[in-house]
Amino acid sequence: MDDRLFRNAMSKFATGVTVIATETNGNVHGMTANAFMSVSLDPKLVVISIGERANILSKIKDSGIFTVNILADDQKELSMNFAGQLKETKEVSFARLNDMPVIDGAVAQMACEVSATHVEGDHTLFIGRVKDVYLEEKDPLLFFNGKYRSMIAVEEPIS
Ligand code: FAD
Ligand code: NAD
Repeated sequence: MDDRLFRNAMSKFATGVTVIATETNGNVHGMTANAFMSVSLDPKLVVISIGERANILSKIKDSGIFTVNILADDQKELSMNFAGQLKETKEVSFARLNDMPVIDGAVAQMACEVSATHVEGDHTLFIGRVKDVYLEEKDPLLFFNGKYRSMIAVEEPIS
């Protein structure tokens, strides 16, 4: 099957946008990702999928930790920054959750320890055990059909 057809099909699945962050030797590295899913409630597990060419891959393997930051709808520029889509890299200061680097103003921050790693095709799946979460009451940034979107409130029909 053609790569473009596969990507077009996947782009029809509307998602939020996360920045995955990790830290090695005091250096924080972030990457934009929409391949994120809740896995288990007991224990509390999530999964992320990282491409084999991504710089963050070896850093998560080395550190054994990552955070998932679900971006808010006013954080599109951060998504573009951590996807390498801006002409100039932004300087980003990270907050801390469970002593891991997280992004202030995100809808949700999750601090995870890697509990399993599976190489599948050209990606590596990291299962993360969620150690702590922090939430903010904001609308999320959305991604659909290759474009960023915002939530639109739909009025309930008057009965
Ligand atoms: P780099 O290319 O090295 O870094 C990415 C960018 O982040 C660079 O511009 C870098 O300067 C900046 N950056 C890193 N750390 C910092 C810091 N501490 N402070 C400031 N800036 C910093 N790829 C996947 O593998 N899985 C996915 O699920 C996935 N989902 C995506 C979803 C969307 C909506 C988009 C747009 C892209 C997605 N990608 C995904 C692609 C991925 O984001 C890019 O390929 C990314 O550039 C690869 O990151 P990297 O680790 O190689 O890091
Ligand atoms: P796009 O049309 O390339 O991607 C559409 C959808 O296809 C994505 O949302 C994702 O679900 C899937 N996809 C894209 N590249 C993939 C890959 N290498 N492996 C597995 N699934 C992939 O365009 P876009 O959504 O605007 O993405 C912009 C850039 O970010 C592209 O270079 C794309 O390859 C990359 N990206 C990678 C992943 C991933 O590795 N899981 C996910 C999203 C985007």
